[in-house]
Amino acid sequence: PTLRNPEEWCRSFSHFIAQCLIKDFETRPSVTHLLEHPFIKQAHGKEMALGQQLSTLICEQQDLGCKLKTKHERINTRKTLIIETSPDDDLVNLEFLDEETIIKHLSKRYDELQIYTYVGDILIALNPFQTLSIYSPQFSKLYHGVKRADNPPHIFATADAAYQGMVTFCKDQCIIISGESGAGKTESAHLIVQHLTFLGKANNRTLREKILQVNPLVEAFGNACTAINDNSSRFGKYLEMKFTPTGAVMGAKISEYLLEKSRVIKQATGEKNFHIFYYIYAGLYHQEKLKKYRLPDKKPPRYIENQHGKVMQDIVSSKLYKEQFDAIQDCFRIIGFTDEEVNSVYRILCAILNTGNIEFTAITSQHQTDKSEVPNVEALENAAALLCIGPEELTEALTSHCVVTRGETIIRTNTVDKATDVRDAMSKALYGRLFSWIVNRINALLHVAESGMNVGILDIFGFENFKKNSFEQLCINIANEQIQFYFNQHIFALEQMEYQSEGVDASLVEYEDNRPILDMFLQKPMGLLSLLDEESRFPQATDQTLVDKFEDNLRYKYFWRPKRFELCFGIQHYAGKVLYNVNGFLEKNRDTLPADIVVVLRTSENKLLQQLFSSPLTKTGRCQRLVIKVLIIPVTFFAPPPSLCFVSSLRWQYSLMDLLSKMVVGQPHFVRCIKPNDDRQALRFFKERVMVQLRYTGILETVNIRRQGYSHRILFEEFVNRYYYLAFRAHQMPDSSKENAVAILERAKLENWVLGKTKVFLKYYHVEQLNLLLRELI
Ligand code: ADP
Ligand code: MG
Repeated sequence: PTLRNPEEWCRSFSHFIAQCLIKDFETRPSVTHLLEHPFIKQAHGKEMALGQQLSTLICEQQDLGCKLKTKHERINTRKTLIIETSPDDDLVNLEFLDEETIIKHLSKRYDELQIYTYVGDILIALNPFQTLSIYSPQFSKLYHGVKRADNPPHIFATADAAYQGMVTFCKDQCIIISGESGAGKTESAHLIVQHLTFLGKANNRTLREKILQVNPLVEAFGNACTAINDNSSRFGKYLEMKFTPTGAVMGAKISEYLLEKSRVIKQATGEKNFHIFYYIYAGLYHQEKLKKYRLPDKKPPRYIENQHGKVMQDIVSSKLYKEQFDAIQDCFRIIGFTDEEVNSVYRILCAILNTGNIEFTAITSQHQTDKSEVPNVEALENAAALLCIGPEELTEALTSHCVVTRGETIIRTNTVDKATDVRDAMSKALYGRLFSWIVNRINALLHVAESGMNVGILDIFGFENFKKNSFEQLCINIANEQIQFYFNQHIFALEQMEYQSEGVDASLVEYEDNRPILDMFLQKPMGLLSLLDEESRFPQATDQTLVDKFEDNLRYKYFWRPKRFELCFGIQHYAGKVLYNVNGFLEKNRDTLPADIVVVLRTSENKLLQQLFSSPLTKTGRCQRLVIKVLIIPVTFFAPPPSLCFVSSLRWQYSLMDLLSKMVVGQPHFVRCIKPNDDRQALRFFKERVMVQLRYTGILETVNIRRQGYSHRILFEEFVNRYYYLAFRAHQMPDSSKENAVAILERAKLENWVLGKTKVFLKYYHVEQLNLLLRELI
């Protein structure tokens, strides 16, 4: 259509929309967006017929929605979900709001399989621990561009709100999913991606298929079976879905955080290695390719051998592993990895498994007692062959190391323990870099121009408190402190600050501020992480000196040193007390890969391996950018790194900042996942367990503030621009003044709004009402 004549353009365009609507109920969000389009707006002023036409079409569409609804049975059995709204869909509506009442409601809802509940615009998701039939395409349609209150709470409604927010206000959005391990974060993230791909219907079907393969692929490499969750994410993931300005999905980008690499070499009792190792072993076994990839066929490699000495049968007889291997092969293919790349990935994985089988024995001679050798060279030769490096060079790099003193290079031998450490460090480095490469490659294959808008989805490990907690749990729990801080900032602190600066009276809501705990971890130079980094630089430091150092320097009420356990310290986190065992902290924090190993790996003829080790892994370039973006993180975060460091906790801090910087720029939506019981049983609701989670996620305070609070604060100018149709004629073009904003509010017959110095303060439901009125008018 020609743009020179907006009227004609609009008419032909409206015809087009009409066609779409009649044919396809699913194009609705684009319509909402189009109504905001300047051409449509302009034409609307002159051409009411168009408006009427559109409005009729929208009505037809709503009818369709209703019909869809009635298709679902509305009976209250334990098998069928009730598709009916109820006043307790949103806890904010409850008249009495004490802990008991909230629990009672959640429990009743859970019994009726209503796993989702709102607290204002926050979604509580109780893990159903059973498959529900509420995620079909019909449900996607049901939750498509309708008013939130029209349907019971649902994860699709949150995805829809983010999508609509992005399309309507041209603003990036982010959905933050939090909760304990096993509470349902990853499942929720999948469902959000599913609904967003549905909403952002790309013409390009292949692209949609590609995006849907990203999660399964990355999770095969980053998830593992733990004591709590059979599919526990052992890395943090931030997935950005990219959209065109009209809301069509055009790509995706994934960022990974803090992969738990130590799992490659060792797992706690009852836990397993990353899924991919089992998939590949079982898959290659069935394809009779174990020989080709030089894997032992009598006994599974040590890294994946069940700790209770279970036999091979466990792995190879698992239908699931074999099927998953086939599925992963499909993922690689659909996303666009070449056969050569996939083959290289397999080779590296198999090399890691062989590396784990390399053993060392001590050579004791007259002069030397600290030398080691590899008694059985088979595993070593296999690993070297798969990595395309020389076996002698590999042996040398494992059993000795170069030291440069006063300009001279001396070769020192490694003890058995040292050689074993080097071996494991090599496995971890190979896996960590392989994982990063896969993520980067996916991003390159789903590459989209930076322009456009996005909805980011954060799925990061929940708070962990095991019988034995180590360095990994500390990292995970600090990340959760960060997220909680962000949540608090968003919900409570910023809200209060804004009320005050706008001169709006708001009785300040008390909340548990976790900033002092964060300061204890992050302050420089005396925070826990700085102390850990400092100690890691001393070669003579031991775990004992480390825990003593913590005790001497950390004068916080959140830190304590239990008398009974020598190598332990305790932290009072926002989510509860955790006892950490410092055994191995220094080693894990150093996370160094000897230069000798890097040198050997760089000689590889394998292109992928060359790439993995061609550049240093420190992410300083990316970190420095963050300073500008992160606004609400404690000032202590921003001290520049003291040097290019090998120390992992610093690297980790920066990766965390990177994550937060991304979140801060978007409009946030929160999903709080809750685990109703620890036995992974359906329909079991343990009040005490839920209560604890509600308390530490700040839900109770949230209920309070959301009820009293104004979740939307819009500048007068923006408000008038957005809603002036409601009180003025299109050609009037009213001033963006406070008075005109009031005129609109009065005309819309809204109640309980408040005016600040520069902004209109609205309750979350006001915005829905306004948008509805706008739609009705058009
Ligand atoms: P998290 O990522 O929080 O650790 P997951 O998302 O992996 O937890 O969920 C753990 C398990 O709970 C899943 O493997 C699944 O069995 C179950 N689960 C979680 N959410 C749902 C859901 N919406 N429907 C059905 N089962 C679910
Ligand atoms: Mg998970």
